[in-house]
Amino acid sequence: MSKIMNKNSLKNLTFNNRFYNELTADPITENYPRQVKGAFYSKVKPTPVKAPQLVSYSKEVATLLDLDEETCRSDQFSQIFTGNDSLKGMQSYAQCYGGFQFGNWAGQLGDGRAINLGEVLNSAGEHWTLQLKGAGITPYSRTADGLAVLRSSVREYLCSEAMFHLGVPTTRALSLTLTGEDVVRDMFYDGRPQAELGAVVCRVAPSFTRFGNFQIFAARGELEQLKQLTDFTIKNDFPHLGEPNKETYIKWFEEVCIRTAEMIVHWQRVGFVHGVMNTDNMSILGLTIDYGPYGWLEDFNADWTPNTTDAINKRYRYGHQPQIGHWNLGQLANAIYPLIEDVEPLQQALKLYEKCFDQGWHAMMTKKLGLDEYKPQSDNNLFSELFQILSLVETDMTIFFRKLVDIDCSDLENNTFTNEDLIKPFLDAYYQEDILNEPDQVMQGFIKRIADWIRSYRNRICQNTTKKSVRRATMNATNPKYVFRNYLAQLAIDKADQGDFSMVNDLLELFRHPYDEQIDKEQYAAKRPEWARQRAGCSMLSCSS
Ligand code: AMP
Ligand code: MG
Repeated sequence: MSKIMNKNSLKNLTFNNRFYNELTADPITENYPRQVKGAFYSKVKPTPVKAPQLVSYSKEVATLLDLDEETCRSDQFSQIFTGNDSLKGMQSYAQCYGGFQFGNWAGQLGDGRAINLGEVLNSAGEHWTLQLKGAGITPYSRTADGLAVLRSSVREYLCSEAMFHLGVPTTRALSLTLTGEDVVRDMFYDGRPQAELGAVVCRVAPSFTRFGNFQIFAARGELEQLKQLTDFTIKNDFPHLGEPNKETYIKWFEEVCIRTAEMIVHWQRVGFVHGVMNTDNMSILGLTIDYGPYGWLEDFNADWTPNTTDAINKRYRYGHQPQIGHWNLGQLANAIYPLIEDVEPLQQALKLYEKCFDQGWHAMMTKKLGLDEYKPQSDNNLFSELFQILSLVETDMTIFFRKLVDIDCSDLENNTFTNEDLIKPFLDAYYQEDILNEPDQVMQGFIKRIADWIRSYRNRICQNTTKKSVRRATMNATNPKYVFRNYLAQLAIDKADQGDFSMVNDLLELFRHPYDEQIDKEQYAAKRPEWARQRAGCSMLSCSS
């Protein structure tokens, strides 16, 4: 009886820790920074903290784990998900991985401040790995402290859930808790360290394996471990591919290429800039992982990156993400080459990435514009001119695309529309709202070009044969109304730092329905206010978190 009543409680969580039990552990169990050779992970326990306090939890992720609200609000929940307590069946560990950072091989990195608690086997038969981010040092912490601050934890927590509801493949977040301890951070590496509130996010994903997990073995010539990890990954995360062998390895790499392409198409669709696409931050499952100095395009600018650490080369800028996906996959191909010993199929798979990305991108743009089908002859020009007009003057990407749905061609015969008539519906998307009154000739030239694009777009949608309602539904399910604007993150953080978590929870609720008009939440769809233009955290972020 009591078992039935408590079926959603923590003690009923079932663990099946495949990574921990099927792969070899580092034989050293003391917790100090070191190079870990020949092993997949190190056993390590979270560092206990002073005063765990739940800030927020995601009910959808709790449901994945068969946990109910009462359980998530219990003291035991906060204790467990800050690392103060553990459950029967949990086996905690930090993974060993390497990575290419900003184009250079960086050697061993590993879970420096992430500690996995084990894999929950839920009532639907799914495995979900639980991982605490910010729960103390591990053998991979190098010289850092293994901790995370509230600022970066709010960003990770809300963004992973927002991305999920936007339909972007991502790791999830179960909970955000305060540790009751201060963490010192020099946010802009300018010699002004400050005490910030310490926090822990419990991340959840089928697995947290990264490209870098394979690369570390390849770099060290540990080919037996490379093969074991690949076999393990195929068996557990890609079971549909069948028994691991050379052929399966190729199919597996092809699928990683496809999934990565699909993920990046989604990023481009919603205007997400990851900010640190190092190979240690690339998930083998094609999930968005490691929310650090990411940002959302506000005014459309393909050269924008939020990451101040990358300000000079802008390697990870919005418009370069697709190429970086390709480069990172090329590095993964090099790492797994010893298992395949044939360059050709790996090169073919990389070509498949390009093909998938191109097809996916065109299909995505076709939906964003509400076209029945993609007609390369006319649409390539339409797309490229669109990106030109979006960058002529500061134009909010999200608002512009959302408003496009209201353009229609029922009055096409009416050719008397002036440039002003055509642009008026979009005025809200312009950062300089009195753009139409600008006497400057250059600006008037821009206005004509924007209006001409709207004219061609009107002509183009007249070729649609499906009902208008279909176009509207497609566009409104592709062009979000609400995204996690950089300034919204900062406002929520400012309040949270003062102990007010209402905006964190408001945004979590808002992002559950990013494609719906939410009449009373209109303010969250507003473009970036002027004060946020140069403010740290809104337009500039560092890796310090
Ligand atoms: P990132 O580029 O932020 O994903 O981090 C690169 C590496 O640095 C990873 O191995 C992280 O685990 C590690 N790292 C980042 N921040 C910390 C920290 N505060 N303490 C320990 N390790 C960290
Ligand atoms: Mg990382």
